[in-house]
Order: sequence, then structure tokens, then C-alpha cells
Amino acid sequence: MAGHRAWGTTPDQLKEWQRHQAIDHWTQIQNDLPFFREWLKGLVQAELLNGRTTHKGIAMSSLPGSTRVRAAAEDIWTFAKAAEASRDFSALFKDQWIVGLSSGTTGQPSLFLTTPQEHSFYLGTLFSKVPQLRPGRSQKIAFVLRAFSKLYEPSALSRLDLRFFDLYAPAEQWIQELNSWEPDVVIAPASVLLYLAAEESLWRKNLRAVISVAEVLEPEKHSHLQRVLGVDVGEVYQAMEGFLGHRCSEGEFHLNEDLIRFEYQTIQSNVARLLVTDLYRNIQPLYRYELGDLVRLKGGSCSCGQPTQRIHEVLGRQGDVYYGPTGPIFPDQVYRLMSVQFEGLEDFSWKWTIDSKGRLTKIDILVTSTLKDFSRVSESLKVLLKEWGLPDGIPLHVKGAFHRQPGPTKQRRVQVHPET
Ligand SMILES: [Zn+2]
Repeated sequence: MAGHRAWGTTPDQLKEWQRHQAIDHWTQIQNDLPFFREWLKGLVQAELLNGRTTHKGIAMSSLPGSTRVRAAAEDIWTFAKAAEASRDFSALFKDQWIVGLSSGTTGQPSLFLTTPQEHSFYLGTLFSKVPQLRPGRSQKIAFVLRAFSKLYEPSALSRLDLRFFDLYAPAEQWIQELNSWEPDVVIAPASVLLYLAAEESLWRKNLRAVISVAEVLEPEKHSHLQRVLGVDVGEVYQAMEGFLGHRCSEGEFHLNEDLIRFEYQTIQSNVARLLVTDLYRNIQPLYRYELGDLVRLKGGSCSCGQPTQRIHEVLGRQGDVYYGPTGPIFPDQVYRLMSVQFEGLEDFSWKWTIDSKGRLTKIDILVTSTLKDFSRVSESLKVLLKEWGLPDGIPLHVKGAFHRQPGPTKQRRVQVHPET
């Protein structure tokens, strides 16, 4: 099991161990799963990690052959959609498999397949890695999420009480349920934690920690949460694609290179696109899979002792990057610009609109601020945008009194939209 530190104490030992583990794992998968037998055809064992890359489209169109689920793809989809519509995630597909559905940030839905055993392994690694969840530190843990499968608790976690709160329910309802339960840890998307902090609606009697998942939590917002809620703030980087990273006991953000083999496609000095290959997942394993996320890499080693790659932060989806005349403009740059322009700004939404040739046609900005004089702000923003090489005369619309409600939609502050 991961966490044994069989993977050593230095980055070199880790890489060596990882290569062996990946080749063992993928030799087995190549034998067992028809899709990968074909995909990796002609590669001898030593070349097994050099095959063609995959992505969500390939993963979805290769169902069920790229998984261990023995059923027709349309039956799996039907089952997943029914569970999603009824908000009842308690049943197993064919009494064996957990099936999850993600609407996805790109609008293309995807299926997530696992078993209770594999899900227990995942929870075990989550609880062993995330400092706020280590044994003895917490008992009542609330998961405030958009979708969920029944929780299958590993026996090591049996003393814990885990409960799911559904973001599809009206906010007043789940907030009331959450508060009357008095959890000591709340796990929720970043935007939901920020909402709870802003509304001062989270009852903090027993609360010891909150853990941000599923969305980008900027470093500034991390300290903001810590300050406002007065509790420890953890961070888990996780998607349908797996448990990708976590913030360690030293507060550093690590990628879980002991669970997943990451490849880093550099697009600008320390900014990289991630490719992931599973080292353990068996039911729906991912191979050189284009995650679509961008991260800012951080060098050096961490005093927590883990030799895994550190990152400054997850920058967001590749699709949220606007490619301007002088180079890419990342969501975190927009975030910093807005923070400087609007002191104390709680939230905003920034929409780049581009035409079919990728040329910028307008920018729409919504801010939580109630500031009256938006024309003054637009003027100073225009000056700053010039520094990014944006041409003069790009229409820039700023509107105020924006209020983000926590709900089923995944938050993306900065988005690129094709012109309609
Ligand atoms: Zn660390």
C-alpha cells in the first residue's frame, strides 16, 4: 500500500520506484484490458510508459474496454444518470461497482468507475496524507459536495462518522443540517468555504479544520479563510481523475507521485500541463492522460520529508488561459490584477470572449463590490491590460453587486468563451 515509503526518501529513489511500480501495474493492465492491449501494442515492457497519450474523449469512447466493468457502456450511462437525477447514490451498479457522473467544466460529461474496495483504498490514502484528517484528530467529518457515492469506510476509519451534504439542495437547507450536526471537519469546494466564511453562517463550536477540494484556492484566499474562520485550512487536489495532491503538515502543496506518475509538459518557465498515469487504480486506470490542468511548479525539497514534486498552486484549466499577443495570460494573473484593483474584493467573474481566429473581442467582468464609479476602474484596468500587450479599444464591461451562490456549478472565476 502507498504510504509505506517503499518509494524512498529522495526524488531519484522515488522516480526509480515509480517506474518499476508503473511498469508492473501496466503490464497487468495490458494483459487484462482489451483497450489497453491494443493501445500499447508493440511496446515491450521497458517501453510501456512511452505509448501515445490519452484524454477524456478517448477514455469515454473506449468504455467498457478500458475498464474492468463488464457491462455495455449505455447501461453504465443509464445507471449513472438515474442516480444523478434521483440524488440517491447508495446503489451499486450490478451489485459490484460504484458509478459516478461528472458534468465536467468543459460541458462534456464523464463517468467515474470504481469498487467499494478501491474507494476504501482511496479514503485510506486521503486520511493518511491530509494532516487535518490523521487518526485521532477528528471524528465527525462533513463532505459538502456536488455528487457522491455511498461512503465505504475502510475498517481503519470505522470510529469515524462521515456524512454527505448535497450542494444540489437549497443552501439554507444544507447549511442548517450541517450546523445542527456540529462537524469537526468540513470538506467542501473552495467557493463554498469562502461563501460560508463571508456569510458567517458556519457554526464553529466543534470545528477544528476545513479542507478545500475540487476548485482552485488561491494562496491569498487560503490565508483569508484561516483568518476569518480561525481554524486550520487543509487542501486536497482531487478530481474524477483521482487523488492528485494535498497540502502537507508544513503547508506545502505536493503532488501525490506515490499514487500517480505525473509527467510535466512545460509551457512557460515553471508552468506545466499535467499528464497522469495511475500506479494503483485498477477498475478505470488512466494512462498518460491529459488532465487539462496547469500548475506552477516549485523546486527544492520539503521539510515534511516527502520527496514528491511540490507546486505553488493549481492555476486552473488549460481552457481558462487566454493566449494574448505577448503570451499566455493565466487565471492567477487575472486574479492578482483584480486583487490589486479592488481592495478587499471578495469574488469576481472574468470572461474573455474570443472570435473563431482566437482574437479577443471583449472582456466582461462582474465584481462583488458595490463601487459606483466603474468607469474609473475600467480606465485603470485598461492601462494595466496594455502591459499584457492587449490592443487598445477592446470593449471592457465592469458590473458590480455580483453575488455568487454556492451550488451545483463548479466555480471558474476566469473563463474563455468563443464568440456566439
Ligand atoms: Zn511537505
